[in-house]
Parts: sequence; structure tokens; C-alpha cells
Amino acid sequence: MLLKKLSELPVVKKVISIEAPHYENFTAENFAPAIVKLAENYSHIVCSANTFGKNLMPRVAAHLDTSQVSDIIKVISPDTFLRPIYAGNAFATVKTNDTKKCVTIRPTSFEPCESSGGTATIEKGEASEEFSNTKFIKREEIKSDRPELGTARIVVSGGRGMQNGDNFKLITEVADKLGAAIGASRAAVDAGYISNDHQVGQTGKVVVPDLYIAIGISGAIQHLAGMKESKVIVAINKDGEAPIFSVADYGLEADLFEALPQFMEELNKLNTIQK
Ligand SMILES: Cc1cc2nc3c(=O)[nH]c(=O)nc-3n(C[C@H](O)[C@H](O)[C@H](O)COP(=O)(O)OP(=O)(O)OC[C@H]3O[C@@H](n4cnc5c(N)ncnc54)[C@H](O)[C@@H]3O)c2cc1C
Repeated sequence: MLLKKLSELPVVKKVISIEAPHYENFTAENFAPAIVKLAENYSHIVCSANTFGKNLMPRVAAHLDTSQVSDIIKVISPDTFLRPIYAGNAFATVKTNDTKKCVTIRPTSFEPCESSGGTATIEKGEASEEFSNTKFIKREEIKSDRPELGTARIVVSGGRGMQNGDNFKLITEVADKLGAAIGASRAAVDAGYISNDHQVGQTGKVVVPDLYIAIGISGAIQHLAGMKESKVIVAINKDGEAPIFSVADYGLEADLFEALPQFMEELNKLNTIQK
């Protein structure tokens, strides 16, 4: 997204559409030159701090010879931003003096804009040459009907306390009932209970759902870095001293193998669950 001024954020006035076969697979090497060319007319170049943005924006910033401001959670003024540091344990206010401001944004920290009903004009842009040093070979995707972990309104996560991969079906049942995404701690991923695209935390995904349910997760600082900004946090843990309770809005000190079947029973009694 390229903007004349960051104060224009709420309204998209113009969309520049660039089409070429080499953009089909979203290779950052091909996108960067097109963005750099367009950036000549803009002061701010903004992108999500997701896997794609983290690959693309440093290339753009390097080409423009500017210092990127990463993973912001608030725009204080057109040149000053708030961003978490030290795995979310502190916040830095960062001011950039660069003329071109390259910024990546933590998507869940901002309200989504309307995706329909706008009046933006759509212009055709000029494609850049194909970057020949990198070739796209193949993409392996995990297809799922579940909400995407990074943007889900409800996340149900399991940790090492689940004991094995089979027991994760208890998490799946609850998630299915609530229309939730499934998350996991790194310990659960490392133990092979679930694949690593479910990992929440410093080295996994950062989530800010309306409801985060942590089950059998101790609440290590690296896990908290990925979920502690969730609006409501519920923790189930048999250890009353577990650090997860220090960030939980609701805590249940209980054995998850007793608590989860009871929870499912209560959910099943409800006729309608709002998804
Ligand atoms: C550089 C670095 C990066 C890291 N990045 C991440 C990251 O991105 N995400 C992440 O999660 N971790 C990350 N970690 C690992 C992190 O430090 C912890 O080791 C990990 O989060 C622990 O996972 P856990 O809470 O599932 O396991 P544990 O700490 O072993 O906790 C298991 C919990 O389950 C509870 N429990 C056990 N049985 C039951 C039961 N029957 N009923 C109820 N409760 C039960 C226990 O009381 C305990 O609190 C990182 C570590 C490092 C060094």
C-alpha cells in the first residue's frame, strides 16, 4: 500500500494494479522493483508484517536507502511509530528522519478497513522486468477450513500438557465448536503433537484474538510474546503457580483431561454458538 500521507489511511483513494505473469507466485524479488519505482511519488510505503511483508519490505527499504520501521502497532504521527521490542515486553517509540518511510504493520493491531463500497479509482501500473536470479519452483500449502491463526477471532491453543498428538483432538473438538483457529506452544510443536504452522509466540505467530484459550501451556515469556495482547485470555492449567495465570482474565486450575470433556459437554448444551 502506498500513501501520500499516513493521515489518509482510513480511505483508499486510488488503487494501482500491475499485472504480469511473474507476479503470480508472490516472489518478493519481482515485487520489490515495481514498488520502488512507484515509491518515487509517495512518502510512506506500508505493508503487513506478515511472512510476505517481512520478505518484501527490507528489499524495498534497501533499494530506497532508508531504515525500515518494523512491526508497528500504532501511528503516533507521520514520522513516529510505536513498536514492541524484547518479545513484546517493552515498547519503543521510533521516529524516522528518512524522506521515504518504509513501515511494516502488525495487522491485528489495527481495525480492518471496509473491503467493499469504496470509491477508489483503479489505475494500471507499469510492470517491472522479471528478476532472473530467483526462480519459483513450487508451493506447499496446508489447506484448512478453519479460520487463519493470525486473524482468527477465537484461538484455542494446546501445550506440552496435552501429552501427545492424539490428545490434541480434545483441542480440535473445542475449536470446531467455537469456530476457532488452533494454536500451540513451541514445546507441543517440538514434541511433534502438531505442525509448526500452529506455533504461537516469539518465533511463531503473533495473535490478538477476542478470545485466547491456553490449555496445558505454562506461559513462558516467548509464548506470551505471541498472545498476551489478546482481548480475553482463558487458561486451564493444573499448576496454580503457572505464569500463564498472570496474564489470564479467567483461570481454571484443573486437570485438562477432566476440564475439557466437561467444557465440551456444556458447549453441546448450548443450542447456538455465534461464530
Ligand atoms: C529463542 C526461543 C524462542 C522461543 N519461541 C517460542 C514460541 O514462539 N512459542 C512458544 O510457545 N515457546 C517458545 N519458546 C519455548 C518456551 O521457552 C517454552 O519452552 C514453551 O513455551 C513451553 O511450552 P509449554 O508451555 O507447552 O510447555 P511447559 O512449559 O512444559 O508447560 C506445560 C504446562 O502444562 C501443564 N500441564 C501438564 N499436564 C497438565 C494437565 N493434565 N492438565 C492441565 N495442565 C497440565 C503444566 O502445569 C505446565 O504448566 C522459545 C524458546 C526460546 C529459547
